[in-house]
Amino acid sequence: MAVPHVPLHLTGRVLLDDAREAGELFVRDGRAQFAPPALQAGAMRHLEGFVVPGLVDVHSHLGLGPQGTLSLDAAAGHALADRDAGVLLVRDAGSPLDVSPLQDRPELPRMLRSGRHIARPKRYHRGAAWELGDVAELPEAVYREARSGDGWVKVVGDWIDRAVGDLTPLWPGDLLARAVALAHDEAARVTVHAFAAETVDDLIAAEVDGIDHGTGITADQAERIAALGIPVTPTLLQVERFPQLADRAAVRYPAFAKRLRALHERRFEQVRMLHEAGVPLLVGTDAGGSLAHGRIADECALLVAAGVPASDVVAAASWRARHALGFGGLEDGASADLVVYPADPREDIGVLRFPTAVVLRGEIVAGSALAGR
Ligand SMILES: [Zn+2]
Repeated sequence: MAVPHVPLHLTGRVLLDDAREAGELFVRDGRAQFAPPALQAGAMRHLEGFVVPGLVDVHSHLGLGPQGTLSLDAAAGHALADRDAGVLLVRDAGSPLDVSPLQDRPELPRMLRSGRHIARPKRYHRGAAWELGDVAELPEAVYREARSGDGWVKVVGDWIDRAVGDLTPLWPGDLLARAVALAHDEAARVTVHAFAAETVDDLIAAEVDGIDHGTGITADQAERIAALGIPVTPTLLQVERFPQLADRAAVRYPAFAKRLRALHERRFEQVRMLHEAGVPLLVGTDAGGSLAHGRIADECALLVAAGVPASDVVAAASWRARHALGFGGLEDGASADLVVYPADPREDIGVLRFPTAVVLRGEIVAGSALAGR
């Protein structure tokens, strides 16, 4: 029942990266090409608009629901929701479900797995992480996940310590540094969940490969992070929930609740500070758990509301993320993973909500053009 792909002729502005753009692009047999194919014009479907390399959600949890692990079918549903929003590459930022059986399915976006979160007992969502009884197990656990994931390992850097009543780091700095070095020896990269400022110096010293949330990073830390080029993923949709989490925690853990409220209060200022310090930002929705999949446009809109220029947000959600994760963009002969928009999202970020066409492996899989309009 496979229908041969209709070749596409895309005109308008094809944004390739920060410096390059083209006036047209052709898609044939699933691949991008700049030279016109030897086809009659009528044999191609013509679409006009602003074309960008497929979006990337670098912080999505496939197969993780509010109550914990879901089925592979549910994970496929998550991936489809991401795809229909224009996300054609998902970095799963930790899931107890091994979604590798989904990676062969051509209708699903490309996925990079980070294996299962590494945490300590009672220091992450129940049932989601490997919970290490002894912090000294960290290097070995990271090594194991580095070998079983797709080159990424997810470590929980801080969480509420109920005995203290506030966020505290999970790991001693020397162990974290040893664990990251082991991952690097395996050519794997480590991204770390960090809400609190106290966690961050150790992440910088260990030279981690990504910081997720980063709500507490100070100006001084931001400068060092920028110098090392460590990408930070602000996950503003998640931070929007902090007041709600604070309300729930307020009676038993007032210090924690107060901290979450303060982090929420300065969330936009924080993201702007990171951007202005030169920290590379990436776009992650933190979907899975409590947040719905398919909301990359909303996360991008929040980043713009925070004061990051829309041109940088589009770049961060598209070619810069693809590059950071080792994926190419729209090169000649590359898989045609792209999104067509009716207007320039760098001028109006809201346009990301209304793709004309989401094209995965050369096929229109979503967008208004799918209905033939
Ligand atoms: Zn997350």
